[in-house]
Amino acid sequence: MTDIFAQQVQEQFSLFRHTKAAEIYLDNAASTQVPDSVLNCVLNHYQSGHGNVHRASHSFARNSTLRFESARDVVADWINAQQRENIIWTSGTTDAINLIADGLAHTINAGDEILVSTLDHHSNLVPWQMLAKRCNAHLREIPILANGDLDLEHFSAMLNPKVKIVALPHVANTIGCVLPIAQITRLCHDVNALCIVDGAQAIAHQPIDVQRLGCDFYVFSGHKMYAPTGIGVLYGKTTALELLKPSRFGGEMISKVSFDSSSWNVLPYRLEAGTPNIVGAIAIAAAIRFIEQWPVKQRLAHEQDLLHYAIKRLTQHPLVEILASPTLHSSAIAFNLKNIHPQDAAVLFDQQDLALRAGSHCASPLTQQLSPQGMLRISFALYNQLSDIDTLMTAIDMIEDLYA
Ligand code: PMP
Repeated sequence: MTDIFAQQVQEQFSLFRHTKAAEIYLDNAASTQVPDSVLNCVLNHYQSGHGNVHRASHSFARNSTLRFESARDVVADWINAQQRENIIWTSGTTDAINLIADGLAHTINAGDEILVSTLDHHSNLVPWQMLAKRCNAHLREIPILANGDLDLEHFSAMLNPKVKIVALPHVANTIGCVLPIAQITRLCHDVNALCIVDGAQAIAHQPIDVQRLGCDFYVFSGHKMYAPTGIGVLYGKTTALELLKPSRFGGEMISKVSFDSSSWNVLPYRLEAGTPNIVGAIAIAAAIRFIEQWPVKQRLAHEQDLLHYAIKRLTQHPLVEILASPTLHSSAIAFNLKNIHPQDAAVLFDQQDLALRAGSHCASPLTQQLSPQGMLRISFALYNQLSDIDTLMTAIDMIEDLYA
């Protein structure tokens, strides 16, 4: 069933129809492939006449604006945002987090605390590190348990009235552990801290309801959910967005300008300086339509089948060492081959037409803790099949023979 589903998905990608059958892509946590419907949407936009948004009264601008603003509605609906004004377009997750960190600087005082975790991607660590330095605040690390789960007890104990910001991943990009965001948000709000969620690795793999999660901000990138690079989303509660001081100036974010002073537009435009990635936003809406053509249950079951099968096969192999076994697990597995450097292993996998990644995966603190030399990671998307994992295991056998 799982492979029939994956084959149906693959039919919607020129890539899989044209690439030689042996080539297998297991690096979806880095970027997913783009289906024909999304590519056609980009092409159609330009072929049917492109204009800049918001500014002109001619039909090219009107059409662009209509598509661009409709895409905002599609995203707002999809993640159950309160209103369309809660959706800000950014160039990606990193850009969104930097926009939040810059925008909150005026709320942070010397001695305040900002909490991030061992699991965080550099994009959800370094902007907070910079903010802490700028404001003489303290950046503190929430540790993990031996299986890779966030240490919730430790986290609860760290919370106090000085904590102003808690920034965490929804799903860790390395080991795929899923954090209980609704519970974490409640704990943050008990001490009036803002909860910022990096959803880059969750958005394509589970339904997201920002109101149910309750977090103040939720951010993600298009290129990890079947859309192109260069587009991302910053969701914020209205009260949270109103706290953000703009840090980029010009374009639609302006309301009035004189030579001496300027005033800012209303949300969401206030935080969108310059010409936005119009076609990127339109492509995200198309990617959502692509994902939504299958019921959530079917998508979740497919990815869980892949995950469980991969864990079972990897665990049984004497050469493989899985680096974490989180309680709630989604889409990514970190592992090593015993006594083989992960970079060497990645090259050998590539020689066998398997695309997977080795290194620190932009998560140095976690890598230092689990495997300082780096780690291998496989990560799934809807087009992966169980047979991809069989091929991976055959490749591991070949590597074992090579090193025997
Ligand atoms: N956070 C997580 C958890 C990620 O996996 C990534 C991408 N690897 C990012 C942030 C950064 O995303 P982007 O490069 O699209 O800004």
